[in-house]
Amino acid sequence: MESAAETFGSLVYSDAAMRETLPSDTYRTLKATIREGKDIDLQIANVVANAMKDWAVRNGATHFSHWFQPLTGATAEKHESFMALQKDGRGIMEFSGKELIKGEPDASSFPSGGLRATFEARGYTAWDPTSYAFIKEGTLCIPTAFCSFKGEALDKKTPLLRSMEVLSEQAVRILRLFGNTEVKRVCPTVGLEQEYFLVDKQVFLKRPDLKLCGRTLVGAPAPKGQELDDHYFGAIKPRVAVFMKKLDEILWKFGIPARTEHNEVAPSQHELAPLFSTVNLGVDQNQLMMEEMKKTADSLGLACLLHEKPFEGVNGSGKHNNWSLQTDKGVNLFEPGDSPSENAQFLLFLTAVIKAVDEYQGLLRMTVASASNDCRLGGNEAPPSVISMFLGDELVSILNCIGTGSKANGNRSQKLIINVHVLPDLPKDSTDRNRTSPMAFTGNKFEFRMLGSSFNAAGPNIVLDTAVASVLEEFADKLESSDDFGKTLNEIVSRTYKEHKRIIFNGNNYGPDWIEEAARRGLECYPSTVEASDVLRHPKTIELMKKYGVLGEAELESRREVILENYSKTVIIDASTLLEMVLKDIMPSASKYLKQICDSVIAIKAAVPDAACTSNETQIRTMQNNIESLSAEARMLGEAIEAAKAETDIHSKAVLCQTRLLVLMAEVRKYSDALEKVCSRECWSLPTYEDILFSV
Ligand code: ADP
Ligand code: MG
Repeated sequence: MESAAETFGSLVYSDAAMRETLPSDTYRTLKATIREGKDIDLQIANVVANAMKDWAVRNGATHFSHWFQPLTGATAEKHESFMALQKDGRGIMEFSGKELIKGEPDASSFPSGGLRATFEARGYTAWDPTSYAFIKEGTLCIPTAFCSFKGEALDKKTPLLRSMEVLSEQAVRILRLFGNTEVKRVCPTVGLEQEYFLVDKQVFLKRPDLKLCGRTLVGAPAPKGQELDDHYFGAIKPRVAVFMKKLDEILWKFGIPARTEHNEVAPSQHELAPLFSTVNLGVDQNQLMMEEMKKTADSLGLACLLHEKPFEGVNGSGKHNNWSLQTDKGVNLFEPGDSPSENAQFLLFLTAVIKAVDEYQGLLRMTVASASNDCRLGGNEAPPSVISMFLGDELVSILNCIGTGSKANGNRSQKLIINVHVLPDLPKDSTDRNRTSPMAFTGNKFEFRMLGSSFNAAGPNIVLDTAVASVLEEFADKLESSDDFGKTLNEIVSRTYKEHKRIIFNGNNYGPDWIEEAARRGLECYPSTVEASDVLRHPKTIELMKKYGVLGEAELESRREVILENYSKTVIIDASTLLEMVLKDIMPSASKYLKQICDSVIAIKAAVPDAACTSNETQIRTMQNNIESLSAEARMLGEAIEAAKAETDIHSKAVLCQTRLLVLMAEVRKYSDALEKVCSRECWSLPTYEDILFSV
């Protein structure tokens, strides 16, 4: 049997596979085109397509598919076979450069937020050679961007690639100013930690809410939840261990370096973290990883829940976006260096991020907005919906000192030392961790923790890349036109820090006073998706995204529409599922149990006419009241669902969902949970929290 190291990446048309299968001049040209971000020449594409097809067929593929990420956030594919007919009627496996470069999926039913009128419903997909093609179930999947014929981005990848370009350009300018003449590209990197729940499939299938909505809509708390913290990093159960092993095997074949796996805080919650890669590849791999997690679980009689808040009262699941900048020479720009000049450069990049996050805090928050993440943010152990940054005390005290550095004359390097004289003490490893911060600097990268577990991670990275690029551009402009580099550098770092330090909060983000304190600091707060979606219309957002050609105004508006539409659809599906459960599961269970107590009171009274049945009678009365209230709330919920469905304005519809449906759902849940608490196990037809959370 082949070892894991030997099969690593065996399903990927990786750099090594390219080198092996392409003529060396084609390989070199392709790599150069990728490196420089240029368009692929058709002749080269023909050679690559043919080699790629031969490689894929050798590895069992019969079909190919352009693999893309529409605005739903999921991935989409349309399979076509390599098979073609020769003149003599024999078959031949063919794949042309044209087919590799461009595809035209019939994409009229992907959400486009009004960008694509139906008369020109077709968009096209374009090969993204910076992410590797891979074989999934006999199909060669080619990562592609998805655009309309007018060139508007209909997907998540196109703006991501654009944002990486602009960031690289501005970061290289800064490096040149520090005397670096070698670096040609700077690439954002990402390591995406993925949290998830694993539950038994049989139990899962008995819960309509888990099946249809991915989360429980009712459920009284189990007697034991996560209080004892005995699950976190605890021993991994055998069934889970089998899942993790099988998942690793398949992920490794896809070249996804899954590395750490451990139990998370909530019962049956786990985490998987791969090694980091470039943002584009990292996002693609995370999409593939989520798909494989679900499939692997299913094959083992388990269900993998990627919803942000599957259970009330226990931790939700997030995705941690560890973001950094790396040069094409492999240097991490957020790694404090050994020399004062390296450290000055580090501080400049650091303050650029501080400013970018502060300036575009609303936009960043918007990138993590969804109906499902609304259930999580601000809840148990999840960051609140206000952005702040954690730097740690050491860095903060250094940044505080810089403004007060003494001025001196002399050559450039001396000035750096003198102006930024405290630099040699930069902490190399920030062991000082704050796990409550939405955005924590963790020694050599920023960990953005607000993403929901089910998210496509492109959104936050598009904003981070573009916002940081815009600040770097401003810094580079100033430094390039300055005749005293050291002085200007010093001024930029100290002034930027002073102007934006309100975004830095090293304290407890889960604490009750933080939201008030944040408001006093003037930080933006968008409690839910409905408010956050407005940020896409803010002039500041439009200006930033337009300036760098990342997203135009129409493209931003389309995203706003898609976000609001998805929000309403999700809430309406959740509400309708809850209503069904009330009618078909909850009411029948409660009534059955109520009848049992009534029958037993009648039986007791028949046997002992003067017996006191006070506690039974109280219970009957309470249950009957709860059933009445439940049914009244459910009726109102039903009416509210119809009203929301009938509303045609997307914003008003979302507001109805937020202010009516979610509120009524909470009321329904209250009565349902009260009934569940007193009902016998035998009568309650739905699996309980205890059944689900401890099912594996
Ligand atoms: P923790 O659970 O303490 O946050 P982990 O070790 O589980 O830390 O995860 C850290 C994540 O950060 C990993 O996915 C890792 O690959 C990623 N990471 C490490 N260095 C970088 C970097 N330079 N750029 C992007 N991600 C990084
Ligand atoms: Mg983490």
